[in-house]
Amino acid sequence: MAPYLTVSTGMVADEGLKKLVAPQAGPREYQVTWHRVLLLTYQHIASIYGLHLLTTRAAWPTIVFNMVTFYLSSLGVCAGAHRLWSHRSYKATRPLQMFLMLCHSIASQHSIFIWVKDHRLHHRYSDTDGDPYNASRGFVYSHIGWTCVNRHPEVQKRGKLVDLSDIFANPIVMFQKQHKEWLNMVMGFILPTFIPMYFWNETFSIAFHANQFRYILCLNGTFSINSLAHMFGTQPYDKNIAPSQNIITTLTTCGEGFHNYHHTFPFDYKAGEVGSFLNFSTSFIYFCAKLGLAYDLREVSKDVLEQRMTRTGDRSKDTYGVQFMRKQEMKEESAD
Ligand SMILES: [Zn+2]
Ligand SMILES: [Zn+2]
Repeated sequence: MAPYLTVSTGMVADEGLKKLVAPQAGPREYQVTWHRVLLLTYQHIASIYGLHLLTTRAAWPTIVFNMVTFYLSSLGVCAGAHRLWSHRSYKATRPLQMFLMLCHSIASQHSIFIWVKDHRLHHRYSDTDGDPYNASRGFVYSHIGWTCVNRHPEVQKRGKLVDLSDIFANPIVMFQKQHKEWLNMVMGFILPTFIPMYFWNETFSIAFHANQFRYILCLNGTFSINSLAHMFGTQPYDKNIAPSQNIITTLTTCGEGFHNYHHTFPFDYKAGEVGSFLNFSTSFIYFCAKLGLAYDLREVSKDVLEQRMTRTGDRSKDTYGVQFMRKQEMKEESAD
């Protein structure tokens, strides 16, 4: 991989463009993509039926398999598209990149290429019209609405300026971009339906609908970072930004809900202050580093973190993350 980009994520050469200051959402007209609305509606209904089948009729290997594919797809999004490719918070060997690319295809959230481009815009223009998931437009828009309407002109304009040179130079990400339709179909839907039917004689209906539940759960987990974690929670690191520490998104995304921390220190591979606690992606990256598959893990230093908390954090109430961090520090001090 190319060296770390010199500018922090969201790298956009936008001199001369209108300055967007959060929270901001100008008047706009929506063009609804109706086939997308219908597809998502069907998939949500199918996923509810899938949950019903999982809790009443599915064989136990199907339940275990469903959980495994959920965690794999979450890893593809969180440890892969987000922390590795969007933020370059660590480096990964080719085998690990291949694994994460396939996991991202299980999640079937478009392609890593588009994911990274949108996410860099999100960090650069958080909660403004340059942010694809602009939370200033409300919960529904930032959660799922943005995927069902035309892109805002500011997103289109500024999206062309995002520096994606590292992504263009990555053959694994570009392979997925080129073949995303069949990769997403095979990894995200055909194989997860076929495997339970072939190996333990699960019925088509149960295997198919259980997988729909897994897909929709992972999708809404990702969406909730853009909606819930930009609206509800605490801001112990920077009270001047909307992204917040949100326990619900922490639980639904395997550890991405420490969002005030993440937007304050986007280069930190942990995307949170608590290490592996409630943060499956951090455990995974740490484990891969032990195996030599991940390296150059970037972290914010304790000093910088404390200084930033003092300077911009809301200290009126400590979150569970901060409390956990303090307890860990006390343990380390008493062990010394
Ligand atoms: Zn965010
Ligand atoms: Zn991010």
